[in-house]
Amino acid sequence: MKKYRVGILGATGTVGQRFVQLLENHPQFEVTALAASDRSAGKPFSQACAWKLAGAMPDYVKEIVVQPIEPPLDCELVFSSLPSGVARETEEAFARAGYAVISNSSSYRMDEDVPLLIPEINSQHLGLIEIQQRKRGFGKGFIITNPNCAVVSFAPPLAALDRKFGVESVFVTTLQAISGAGYPGVSSFDITDNVLPYIAGEEPKVEIESQKILGRFNGETIDKANFTVSAQCFRVHVIDGHTASVRVKLRRTSTLENVFEAMKSFPSLNLYSSPKHFIDVCDEPSRPQPRLDRDTGKGMTITVGRLFPDNIFDYRFVSLSHNTVRGAAGAAVLNAELLIDKGFLK
Ligand code: NAP
Repeated sequence: MKKYRVGILGATGTVGQRFVQLLENHPQFEVTALAASDRSAGKPFSQACAWKLAGAMPDYVKEIVVQPIEPPLDCELVFSSLPSGVARETEEAFARAGYAVISNSSSYRMDEDVPLLIPEINSQHLGLIEIQQRKRGFGKGFIITNPNCAVVSFAPPLAALDRKFGVESVFVTTLQAISGAGYPGVSSFDITDNVLPYIAGEEPKVEIESQKILGRFNGETIDKANFTVSAQCFRVHVIDGHTASVRVKLRRTSTLENVFEAMKSFPSLNLYSSPKHFIDVCDEPSRPQPRLDRDTGKGMTITVGRLFPDNIFDYRFVSLSHNTVRGAAGAAVLNAELLIDKGFLK
């Protein structure tokens, strides 16, 4: 099997470290370039990176010298986990230089010609790539994105419901982990013994991204799904794992059993990083919980629980995903596997 040579932009950060971890021994990818800020460039990764994940830093990456975030890099595609402030210009430069750019950042997610992908839900949105290349004059380079880490925690069950019954409106409260803010992120003085009711810029992202994800590619652009989302986003004292408390109004009435079945039976894919179950619906009254459920399916499964009829909306449920795996690096790696599967990487 061909191994694609990949670079990681923002390799020393919270999401960058997850890339390093997930790409160790990956059968389709080999990490050949790492890039980060001027603070890190020129140093071996082992010196540049303050490793914060459980387990040791993988040996394969220790001696790779970190480079500045500019092309050329010795690779065929780049995973980007740069802060949004620098991502837009940098990702465009790589796409223009002919690289496939697989981005975690919010910079291009809502651009009309950029796919915002959850492969199990909307792989047909890859049709935007050709339009993007033509419109922007990218040549063989292009940009694809994965959603905001909080959106990933509830968009999959929403997609399951939208396909079967139609979704009319959604009220969602997110309880987001500390690692979602990057490192060092929120100060311990602020988050210990506390819940923070404000995450800068988060609520608008959570309110608009799912309509694009669940939208239909019409051959030119995405017809966004026709429902409204109202969101409140909180930072909570959890290291990894974003929880979403969701209430949903459906267009067509359904029984609880059919809602349960629609979520549970939503198919996974057959890609290397695909979990056995895309959505796991649990019966236990006290689940999902971040500490107990975030690693389900190696962090790639969405866990749903507390599914009940609601007194105001039709149904309510709680869903959970691992924010730096399914919500970031794992999502981007799955997107890259999808690109190979669909023939977008030669
Ligand atoms: P982070 O821990 O702060 O890491 C940021 C990375 O970008 C580091 O490698 C840093 O390099 C590099 N960087 C920072 N400023 C730079 C600059 N001016 N020029 C070049 N490189 C620079 O952040 P993160 O949590 O990994 O997030 C990265 C991106 O992923 C953000 O866009 C974020 O919104 C998105 N995202 C994060 C999560 C999550 O759960 N954390 C989930 C989904 C999406 P140095 O080490 O050299 O400073």
